[in-house]
Amino acid sequence: MPFSRRDFVKTSVLGAVAAGVGTRAQAEPSTAQPHDSQSGSYKRPIIICAHNGLNYLEDAFAFLKSGGDTLDAALKVVKGPEDDPNDTSVGLGGIPNEEGVVELDACCMHGPTRRAGSVGGVRNIKNVSLVSKAVFEHTGHVMLVGEGAERFAVAVGFPRENLLTDHSRKVWLLWKEYHSNEDWWGPGLADPHWQPPDTKPDVKPSDDKPQSQLWQERYRRLEEHATALGIAPELRSDAIHKVLFPPTGTIHCSALNEKGEISGCTTTSGLGFKLPGRCGDSPIIGAGCYTDQDVGSAGATGSGEENIKVEGAHTIVENLRHGMSPQEAGMDALKRIVRNYNNDMTKLRFVDMTYYILRKDGAYAGVSLWEGYEPGKPHKIAVHDGTRRAENTVPMFKGSSQDFPPEPKVPAEVKKEYLK
Ligand code: ASP
Repeated sequence: MPFSRRDFVKTSVLGAVAAGVGTRAQAEPSTAQPHDSQSGSYKRPIIICAHNGLNYLEDAFAFLKSGGDTLDAALKVVKGPEDDPNDTSVGLGGIPNEEGVVELDACCMHGPTRRAGSVGGVRNIKNVSLVSKAVFEHTGHVMLVGEGAERFAVAVGFPRENLLTDHSRKVWLLWKEYHSNEDWWGPGLADPHWQPPDTKPDVKPSDDKPQSQLWQERYRRLEEHATALGIAPELRSDAIHKVLFPPTGTIHCSALNEKGEISGCTTTSGLGFKLPGRCGDSPIIGAGCYTDQDVGSAGATGSGEENIKVEGAHTIVENLRHGMSPQEAGMDALKRIVRNYNNDMTKLRFVDMTYYILRKDGAYAGVSLWEGYEPGKPHKIAVHDGTRRAENTVPMFKGSSQDFPPEPKVPAEVKKEYLK
């Protein structure tokens, strides 16, 4: 049954009331473009991507404007962070899994020819976004994983290389030493037995020590380890934060040309210190990326497990098909994540999600569950439609998400001292 705009608005309002989330963010979009018009005229060509693609937009836009293919333009953008050893979220230098091995995920969709390719859990190959394209160019399959994907990549000419940089290796060693008895095993947020940190018996201040003292001790211990491992002083605070709160990081990019052809791709090293073999949403066609030549393209960064359960990118493109604006389409997908946790804010504060949405006419939006990962650092979307810029996303909830795994909050004074 088609879902009308009126139905959507009604459901949104009811959803907001049912959610009881007094912290819902402002209704006004914070990006520069009008988001609610279905008939406005928008610019083409246009490329939108995650913020870590900003520096690579200029070349890709010039390529697209001069007649380059939309998927190749999007791949040009994401290849930048994949090649950059200092970007620890994708490709070379990505934060490894719990065994110290970098495993990469990627997928892409080529709108004009309606083809899709995907690879998951790939080791030793840097540009997995390009490998995902090679899957549809050279095989009759859509998705290859693990060793098979690596062997395929080598067969079609991608070089095997060590993706673990010296810095990522040291961060992993620091994590190993620190987490001798804590890891990703155990109940996740979705488990009925999961408990918020404040009620977890094992994190009640031991020996009657206040939280600030416990955190001071943790940081001191980590600093000693980091020094012993030879992590450069200027990189220590970032390494310690990664160890305490394993990072995610990904890049999505969608590109639309003047003729209205559209494509998208997403690439990632996934969740830091994940279990070997874990695939997030990025290689899942429909979750991390989805493009329909008739409608538009969408992609995701953030809590992959949550996004898989709502098939975010596909949901958004279907919402566009049924008449929602890019912003409405994205907010609806976010609402489904909220619904999956019965609006339980003690859990949702540990989840975050950003959607990048580009409609075939050039209308676009960036929406996120929270304003940012920390106060003063809003989630951003990068855009090039003749002018290259970064814009804040439109958040569903006011405030910042909290780092995972759930721990009692790091006291502000400790943060100030150690996490400069
Ligand atoms: N969504 C990615 C994953 O879960 C991580 C990220 O976007 O930062 O693998």
